[in-house]
Amino acid sequence: MTTTVAAYAVPAPKAPLERTTIERRAVGEHDVLIDIAFAGICHSDIHQAHEGWGRAVFPMVPGHEIAGVVAEVGPGVTGFAVGDRVGVGCMVDSCRTCDNCRAGLEQYCDEGPVWTYNAVGKDGRPTYGGYAKTVVVDENYVVRVPEALPLDKAAPLLCAGITTYSPLRHWNAGPGKRVAVVGLGGLGHMGVQIAHALGAEVTVLSQSLRKKDDGLRLGADHYFATSDPATFQSLAGTFDLILNTVSAPIDFAAYFSLLRTDGAMVNVGLPEEPLEVDIRALGGRRRSMSSSGIGGIAETQEMLDFCAEHGVAAEIELIGAERINEAYERVLSSDVRYRFVIDTATI
Ligand SMILES: [Zn+2]
Ligand SMILES: [Zn+2]
Repeated sequence: MTTTVAAYAVPAPKAPLERTTIERRAVGEHDVLIDIAFAGICHSDIHQAHEGWGRAVFPMVPGHEIAGVVAEVGPGVTGFAVGDRVGVGCMVDSCRTCDNCRAGLEQYCDEGPVWTYNAVGKDGRPTYGGYAKTVVVDENYVVRVPEALPLDKAAPLLCAGITTYSPLRHWNAGPGKRVAVVGLGGLGHMGVQIAHALGAEVTVLSQSLRKKDDGLRLGADHYFATSDPATFQSLAGTFDLILNTVSAPIDFAAYFSLLRTDGAMVNVGLPEEPLEVDIRALGGRRRSMSSSGIGGIAETQEMLDFCAEHGVAAEIELIGAERINEAYERVLSSDVRYRFVIDTATI
């Protein structure tokens, strides 16, 4: 027995979103029914709606930055009660038995996690994301939103927040470490805040100085324009960690030169095309290039608690659902400071 729910969907690749209805599964033994209050718009929603990352499932209801309130729980649910403030991020299930799942790295599940949308759930039905009135999720893939975080500003933490928090923690951003964040967009503006709250010395590397005031206000200690060649000369050999949030091709060799010995450049933006990288530019200084994908469920909870404790949240532009298509255009032209969030009451 399913429930019909209002949603915004992409009917076919690259088509505009339109209001429609979808079916949500009945609340199972370990499920939580969430009344969605807010859903963030992530750049990866657009990549997938445009099939930029390969074949996708249509109709598609994007949205993996979900914040809301528990409306119903299954009889076996132990961690949540009706009225709890909760969030759901990029995944809604995984195998739960592989080494990665058992280590709290469900995002790297050997069988592949069940993504929140553009995927097929364990029940064989397509998964639909957060641009909808409600969602039904197994409680093991639901996190708690602390009282100190407003739900609308918390929603983007479920992807943009954890995508930057996890690598910053893994590569030990903290006191005495110099961290550069490349790009001050949805991911970058979270990376700057979190790296600063972790105690690192933070530098923003952005194409221009257009957002410099914002960057410094968000916690950056320094701000440089990458369009200025002098930036790469003056910062040579400076950083322990470079967090690249840009999903367009960049000159990797130039960035590698900014790393100290043993420094790492970690990429969290996902370009649609393969990139050419000259490994010689790692320069024999044991520099490394790596990537990172979101974070596990326990780490996502840790990130939310950390953000609540340190007063970190997304800076958002709240929109009605009728403006999603316009918002997509503006994300593509980098015209948002710094995350669109849909008020799902308008769906
Ligand atoms: Zn995302
Ligand atoms: Zn697994």
